[in-house]
Amino acid sequence: MTSQDTRLTDDHIVVTGGARGIGRGIAVRCARAGADVSIFDTRPETAAETVQSVEEHDSDAQVLEVDVSDAADVRDAVESARDGLGPIDGLVNNAGIQDSVPILETDLDQWESHFAVNARGTFLCSKHVATAMIDDDVAGSIVNVSSVAAERPFRGQGMYGATKGAIETFTRVLAKELSDHGITVNAIKPGTIETPMVERWLEENAEQSGKSKDELLAETIEAHLLDRIGRPEEIGHVAALLLSEEGEWITGESVAVDGGYLNA
Ligand code: NAD
Repeated sequence: MTSQDTRLTDDHIVVTGGARGIGRGIAVRCARAGADVSIFDTRPETAAETVQSVEEHDSDAQVLEVDVSDAADVRDAVESARDGLGPIDGLVNNAGIQDSVPILETDLDQWESHFAVNARGTFLCSKHVATAMIDDDVAGSIVNVSSVAAERPFRGQGMYGATKGAIETFTRVLAKELSDHGITVNAIKPGTIETPMVERWLEENAEQSGKSKDELLAETIEAHLLDRIGRPEEIGHVAALLLSEEGEWITGESVAVDGGYLNA
């Protein structure tokens, strides 16, 4: 799709975990709609490819090396992002990790690290970016990347699904609390999307189930009504809508972008 899209012209969008996968798809899709993009990620080298794709759309991109679970990192990065590309109009809390481990085999470190990145990271970035939006008098928008796993998890997604359930509730409360400032807050629940995270999930599950990766992929595809897994830019399309003026009367919602997985 290469049609003209100016919905985010001159907006500055922060995308966490934008170095690869869904985050890259969102960053590039926002750039295609005219936005400049700040990428918060622990993999700055990998982010170079995202930057190149953003610049191909004549938008600016900056990469900030940030661990979203670290309060000082996030606070400093939000300041640097504003210094570099101006007031922040939108935040996409996309950074996340997923290990597939049965609950009885999950150790405390795994549990804590999933909550640190997925849930605490979403809280910290939202808190600091929303505070900046209020200070800058920007009626912006926050989009949290949740998962269909919050509602229909696979085996092995105990700790991961629990973090996504937390993000769903957090989204609804933050939408209430920021509504007085005209800031919208929504979530997107992706179905299975072709990314490095899913590649790893297939490997872990193949090991645990004794099936081949191809068999597991075929079963996963089968579980989506539209008979395929999704592409990162398909999450980007919906993120761009929620971040744009066209989405300004949507708040506190969680949108499944899942090829029909939750309805299958
Ligand atoms: P991915 O592993 O391919 O990419 C994740 C990105 O987040 C990477 O660039 C990584 O460096 C970054 N990241 C990880 N920890 C970080 C931290 N502490 N601080 C900053 N950056 C960090 O994953 P993906 O598949 O693109 O997933 C992106 C988001 O979408 C995640 O929140 C994931 O839970 C969610 N999701 C993915 C799928 C899917 O099928 N791929 C489905 C539902 C939800």
